[in-house]
Amino acid sequence: MRILVTGGAGFIGTRTVKKLISQNHETAILDDFNDFYDPEIKRENVKTSGTKVYEADLRSQSEVERTFADFKPEAVIHLAARAGVRPSLNQPGLYIDTNVTGTLHILEAMKTHEVERLVFASSSSVYGCNEKVPFAESDPILKTISPYAATKVAGEHLCSVYSHLHDLRIVSLRFFTVYGPAQRPDLAIHKFARLMTEGIEIPRFGDGSTRRDYTYIDDIVDGVEKALSYAGPNRHEVFNLGESDTVELRELISLLEKHLGVEAKIKSLPSQPGDVPLTYADITKAKSLLGYLPQTKIDEGIEKFVEWFRDYYSKQ
Ligand code: NAD
Repeated sequence: MRILVTGGAGFIGTRTVKKLISQNHETAILDDFNDFYDPEIKRENVKTSGTKVYEADLRSQSEVERTFADFKPEAVIHLAARAGVRPSLNQPGLYIDTNVTGTLHILEAMKTHEVERLVFASSSSVYGCNEKVPFAESDPILKTISPYAATKVAGEHLCSVYSHLHDLRIVSLRFFTVYGPAQRPDLAIHKFARLMTEGIEIPRFGDGSTRRDYTYIDDIVDGVEKALSYAGPNRHEVFNLGESDTVELRELISLLEKHLGVEAKIKSLPSQPGDVPLTYADITKAKSLLGYLPQTKIDEGIEKFVEWFRDYYSKQ
């Protein structure tokens, strides 16, 4: 299949493209290589991928249109977005332009070019302060607490609208904190590991009791791949992709200490606005309808992350 992966130069995108290529799909990447984090990392990511790259900005309808006209995809995996909760509080407009208007541009191009199939990267953050745990797809998503989360809610709704009006087959996947080799440098595991190995204090927001459902990158990629061929009765379907287990921040730091072999120096800071106390995925639906079955537990996943981390930074 000819598959366009937006955000294909990023953390999840790179691993996704690799997997698709290994299965003989024809892929192309649409990415603007912005500086949300060091763009050199993204450029390195695509260097060896052997895939076609369209350097284009999602916010421009004409750039998206040109990409579709040239590559003629049969399916789209839409991962490009401004990610990260905290920065969205300072730049809500940028998040809305990229994640909402950008998603609209993808959907419009799909309509114009009659591309039927889309996998959309949503987020566990749509649940916000949901009190019912674990979080299920049928829970109302009215407790969202950051602009980033709101853009993902809006993205899901646009997917629902376009699938209904234009008969597109769309799967929205709510990823729960993704980690593993080459994790985004702004995310806690990677950031903490860097600071810890440099002997610098790590900022711990809150008392360390917040809990996250961490999902290993290969399990996410497996879920994305399964979503691509999903053929259930609903034209738009939403699935949680998590590990369905929670890890306390304190415990996460201990795991990093264990695998890095260093003791963390902790700087306690107040909880951050926009941060949720807990994420916890109910994956019953993804298991039964997608056949999604996460394989990597946190201890093993952190070990693999640390292996990559050591190798990567030894070459910098
Ligand atoms: P990432 O930042 O590494 O990848 C996103 C990519 O999108 C980047 O390469 C970036 O350059 C590109 N991009 C951003 N704005 C663009 C624009 N205007 N035009 C073209 N390209 C643009 O992030 P990631 O962690 O790989 O996340 C991928 C997707 O998964 C995102 O939609 C994110 O919101 C979602 N998600 C990620 C996590 C996680 O834990 N990593 C959790 C939930 C949801």
